Amino acid sequence: MSQASFDQDTIASHVGAAHLDRISTPIWVFDIDQGRVAWANAAALEVWGASHLDELRQRDMSADMSISVAQRLRQYQEDFDRHNAEFTEQWTLYPNGVPRTISVVFRGYRLADGRMGMLCEALARSDDEPDTLRSAEALLHTSVMIALYSQDGIPLYCNPAARAGYHDAKSHLSERFVEDGDYDRLMERLRSVSGCRMTARIRTSHGIKWHEITGRECRDAVSGEIAYLFSENDISDLKETEQRVRYLADHDVLTGLPNRHFMQSNFRSLARAVPDNSDSALILLDLDRFKAVNDLLGHAAGDELLIDVATRLKTAVGDDGLLARLGGDEFLIWLPKPQSTRSPEDVADAILEELASDFVVNNHTFAISASLGISRYPTDGQSLSTLMKNADLALYDAKADGKGTHRNFTLRMLSQVEQQVQIESDLRLAIDRNELELHYQPRVDVDSGKITGAEALVRWHHPVRGMVPPSEFIPISEETGFITELGAWVVETTAAQQKRFSDEGFSDIVVSLNMSARQFHAVNFLDRMVSLSERTGCDPTRLELEITETMLMGTANDIVSKLTALREIGFGIAIDDFGTGYSNLAYIQRYPLTSLKIDRTFVSSIETHGPVTRMVMSLCQLIGVKSVAEGVETFEQLEWLREHQCDEIQGFLFSRPVPVHQFMELLRNPPALMPTQPTLAYAKA
Ligand code: C2E
Ligand code: CA
Ligand code: CA
Repeated sequence: MSQASFDQDTIASHVGAAHLDRISTPIWVFDIDQGRVAWANAAALEVWGASHLDELRQRDMSADMSISVAQRLRQYQEDFDRHNAEFTEQWTLYPNGVPRTISVVFRGYRLADGRMGMLCEALARSDDEPDTLRSAEALLHTSVMIALYSQDGIPLYCNPAARAGYHDAKSHLSERFVEDGDYDRLMERLRSVSGCRMTARIRTSHGIKWHEITGRECRDAVSGEIAYLFSENDISDLKETEQRVRYLADHDVLTGLPNRHFMQSNFRSLARAVPDNSDSALILLDLDRFKAVNDLLGHAAGDELLIDVATRLKTAVGDDGLLARLGGDEFLIWLPKPQSTRSPEDVADAILEELASDFVVNNHTFAISASLGISRYPTDGQSLSTLMKNADLALYDAKADGKGTHRNFTLRMLSQVEQQVQIESDLRLAIDRNELELHYQPRVDVDSGKITGAEALVRWHHPVRGMVPPSEFIPISEETGFITELGAWVVETTAAQQKRFSDEGFSDIVVSLNMSARQFHAVNFLDRMVSLSERTGCDPTRLELEITETMLMGTANDIVSKLTALREIGFGIAIDDFGTGYSNLAYIQRYPLTSLKIDRTFVSSIETHGPVTRMVMSLCQLIGVKSVAEGVETFEQLEWLREHQCDEIQGFLFSRPVPVHQFMELLRNPPALMPTQPTLAYAKA
């Protein structure tokens, strides 16, 4: 029977009430809006336990109808209105309060006044088990959306909740998903594991919602074919709460900017997105005098000011970076864009300019400046914490430098300890990575102007920082003990080089090398020096060990015997930096020395230190030790030294320390040392 547009009174005239009354199938028309039976045949009257139609029409069914049933009926009404719907469901009626379960086919039925009613046809009396009856009831009443789909996603059954929730109960399952691929993913999982759960954005009658869908493979009871049973819950509220919580965790409530937590949890992916060799940077910003404003005007005004600052920062940074508020008056700017034409310094300038105009809060006008610290990624650090720490040091520097300015992080800013730790760990790799090199500074005979030798000076080519001067890593190596390893490398390398000089025809050239106290006192030091010539083919008489005065302090006998042993092998011994330490002249003659190197400070101030220097040179002559003046930079110094019979000079005047090939060049083509003529060759490193 299809939906008809006749009313209860015309039913008899069309079909004939007598005919309908004679049908044993109970049929009745229900007026959903009124909650009353509008018409019923004899069999239906029997089902409802009514003596005649008028009595049944009097019954107000809505009076003790549960809300869920009422809602379901409304849903049916809508379904009938929208399309030619037909449902078969197990219903439990309560004629005169006694439960009676029957299968009913429901169809839409247009009442005389145009409203949508419902034509009900009881199929048969159900004689199912009570549990089956209850489960059928549960299916009807539950708010969980339950639906059965064919393997191809065609809907086979939808419970009332599903019909109410679906934007279109007849549509293909795939049409319900908002995101491309969700449907395929769901079906894929169902086919492979036969049961699954997923959360997806779904088109519903109430708009797009988050649904949690549980699917399971089963068989369609009607066709016996494989089908999928889904139950769905609307978890939009939960999702929204979750998203809100996540948003709150990652954002600063006051300014809406990402916060410290956001930076911490996202920095890795931000950094990963940076292409190699690009100039990324992190800027830390701290407002100057913010505390004063806060104290003066109160926190509410302080908050207002911060919001204004955040807005201005956004303008200044634009699309070039990511702005975050770390807390208080501290902001962070991550600048990843290598293609941007603005350098981090440009951005910092733009920020300072943006903040330069007056702020107005609570009718107060005042100026607020900021200090900024910049650290580069990855040069100044690869982790967020290192970059922030270093940018903070730069920021501190900017504050100390009068505020309202920006500074780049430099190694100098690292605290002693941090720098040491970094240098120490890098140094350990320096030898293996071939980052160390020896440069040679010529020693020149004052009278003949000939190169007599050279001092080997270590150089470190740091992969990131470039050339690190010995003054930065020698003291640290001494402290950590790495100097023993470094010193051993210098000894071996110098010895091998001396052999090469000799092979090149410069067997007279004496190479001096610097010794550290630790290295000198190491247990196997002497043994290694004994076997050095064997290992490298060097001539020990062409190697001179430079030791400092302080190293001579201690158990004198011990040192004397060690020095004597070294001398016996052939090594020369020089006192380095003479004049800066003990300078006990009487002491000097107790040691088997070959040279005495007069410290640069004496040479550079010959006018005042002249007498002392002269005395040192006389002493050298007396005890038969070569006097070597270090750090000779001018002709005047050279002239003076020559006059006072200094033996050798070393200094920028003749040459800076140079790489070995340049030193060889000086050996092959020696420049003339002519003190009176300013034509002296100046070999530059
Ligand atoms: P040092 O032994 O007194 O070496 C001389 C330093 O004076 C060198 O500095 C050299 O470049 C510099 N110098 C030479 N001529 C002049 C000049 O005319 N004017 C000026 N202003 N400076 C001049 P450098 O190479 O930076 O070495 C610094 C110190 O590091 C050395 O002082 C030495 O104590 C230490 N060092 C260098 N290489 C080694 C090494 O292999 N082992 C150890 N233990 N220490 C080393
Ligand atoms: Ca030296
Ligand atoms: Ca020296």
